[in-house]
Amino acid sequence: MTNKELFEVARTLMPGGVSSPVRAFKAVGTDPIIVKEAKGCYIWDVEGKEYIDYLCSWGAAILGHSHPNVVNAIVEQSQKGTSYGLTNVHEITLSQMITEVMPSVEMVRFVSSGTEATMSAIRLARGYTGRKYIVKFEGCYHGHADSLLVSAGSGVATFAIPGTPGVPQEIAQLTLVVPYNDLEALEKVFKSYGHEIAGVIVEPVAGNMGVVLPEDGFLEGIRRLCDEYGALAICDEVITNFRIAPGGAQEYYGRNPDITCMGKILGGGMPVGAYGGKREIMEKVAPEGPIYQAGTLSGNPLSLVVGIATLKTLFEENPYERLEILTVKLSDGISKILAEKGIPHTINRIASMFTVFFTEGPVRDYKSAKASNLDMFAKFFRALLKRGVLFSPAQFEAWFLSTAHTPEVIEETLNRVQDAVKEL
Ligand code: PMP
Repeated sequence: MTNKELFEVARTLMPGGVSSPVRAFKAVGTDPIIVKEAKGCYIWDVEGKEYIDYLCSWGAAILGHSHPNVVNAIVEQSQKGTSYGLTNVHEITLSQMITEVMPSVEMVRFVSSGTEATMSAIRLARGYTGRKYIVKFEGCYHGHADSLLVSAGSGVATFAIPGTPGVPQEIAQLTLVVPYNDLEALEKVFKSYGHEIAGVIVEPVAGNMGVVLPEDGFLEGIRRLCDEYGALAICDEVITNFRIAPGGAQEYYGRNPDITCMGKILGGGMPVGAYGGKREIMEKVAPEGPIYQAGTLSGNPLSLVVGIATLKTLFEENPYERLEILTVKLSDGISKILAEKGIPHTINRIASMFTVFFTEGPVRDYKSAKASNLDMFAKFFRALLKRGVLFSPAQFEAWFLSTAHTPEVIEETLNRVQDAVKEL
């Protein structure tokens, strides 16, 4: 069956034919591909067409697909049980690995997704401080928990959903929203709600309005205001952990949050999330403390051995510099091709992730990200998909590189971009 035929069947069985909205490719005006398999930096659809993959499972697959270390870990663990529902040694190993590279994280609780991590982190912040308000930044996405689906990025931005039906106003109003990179606005919110704010959650590098970097002083300002008012600084590193540095954005920018949310690379492509932070705060989590949070599959051994294999490989091979060089080559190459064609654009990049916005820029918050020409983005996406280059099928996301991408693959990608822009 073709992609199209299978998708028609999928749509009769699953809302929109997908398990997560952006996968429907609605924003780029084409039918989605249905994946058959993936290996290294390549992915194949059910029609046998090959794509160079810059989606990399939305950033999780930093080693590429089916890295031998990951496959071995899965094979070995699958023979010893896939879920025990009891504490296992892999939880201890992975906790140690996390706490070593992220000094702000002294204790860890494993969950099964980024959403669970952020949802639990804000519950902890509220429980710890005894306060009700959470501050988030416009265009940041922290998963789909009720309190965090307010002015969110990612699929919420893509489909222009202003919050979502199903979240009662009473809950939404406990989330205060401030523009990204706008410390003055944050200060104002603190002046008005100060001692009722439990925590400020931020993507230290935004990835869900496209890549938007924190300006000088922004992250420091959040820390300072949180300290001043007794609120907790919550760093959502679901995308950035182990990607922009081994210790994530907090290592890169030298930050010291109270609570950190983790996911994606932490599970190396398996469903894993975690939250962690200062001992004094984490000790309030049940059963040590009174703040309840639990999970049948939390810390499940199959997922964790993949996380461990992924982090071990990353820490041993230390590919960060090589990844960055390749990413610069690709993003600069794309920029040059677009410039030659006279197409206005801005590329925001950090380490091995970047976004091409079709606007003069600069792109420094959600408002400026939304200035991107979405029709041009959709055309660019379709022209590249046709030529076997896959990246996120929505503007408000990122391209991700993996260690499986080689200089030759980047060169080949640029050749295809050169050809694709003929259609723009
Ligand atoms: N936080 C951030 C920064 C994310 O990018 C995402 C997902 N893209 C989440 C949280 C939610 O993670 P998950 O999709 O695993 O629930």
